[in-house]
Amino acid sequence: MHENILVIVHPHLNADICNSICLYNMLGVHCSVAGGLGNALSQAQTLGIDTFQIFTKNQRQWKERTIDEEEGKSFRNHFDQSGVKIGFSHTTYLINLASDDEIHRQKSILALLSEVRRCEILGLSYTVLHPGSTKSGEEVGIQRIAEELRKIMAATSSSEVMILLENTAGQGFSIGGNFLNLCAECYRNRSLQQ
Ligand SMILES: [Zn+2]
Repeated sequence: MHENILVIVHPHLNADICNSICLYNMLGVHCSVAGGLGNALSQAQTLGIDTFQIFTKNQRQWKERTIDEEEGKSFRNHFDQSGVKIGFSHTTYLINLASDDEIHRQKSILALLSEVRRCEILGLSYTVLHPGSTKSGEEVGIQRIAEELRKIMAATSSSEVMILLENTAGQGFSIGGNFLNLCAECYRNRSLQQ
C-alpha cells in the first residue's frame, strides 16, 4: 500500500469505518495483475498480507476494461477464500478532476465511474485516486476537484465502494500537497458529508 495518508470522501464515510481501518493496522502492498487479476490475490496470499491494491485495467490508458459477472464471481470466490481482508484498486493515472480541459475532466469522471463499477464486481472496497493537477492555481484546482467529486458521489450514491483521495508531494501543478485545504473544500460541500 502507498505510504501516504488516504482520506475517505465517499458519502458512506463514517467514524466507525475510519476507526476500523486504523484499528486493524493492516499490512498490504500493491500486487501485480500480470497473467490475470487472480494472480494478485495469489501473490497477496503468498505474502500473508491483510490487504492489497491492484490496477483493474491498464493504468496508463483511457481504454476501459469490462469485467463480466463470471470473471467477477471467480475473483470474489478466490478473494473470500484467500484470507485477505480488504481489497483496493488504484485508478488510472490519466484521471485529472482538476484539469484545465473540460473534456479531460468529463473523461475523468467516466473513467472513475467505470473504476467504481469494476470494484463492485470484484468485491474491492476502495479505489484510490490522485486528486489531479492544474495550471490555474491551487484554489481553482481544489474547487474543481470538489465539484467533480460531487457529481461522482451523486452517480455512485448506491455504491458501497469508497473513493479515497491520495495525498501528493505537491510536485509541479498537482493538487494535494496542501491536503488539508483539499479536505476542507471537499467537506465544505454538504453532499460529501452524508
Ligand atoms: Zn497513487
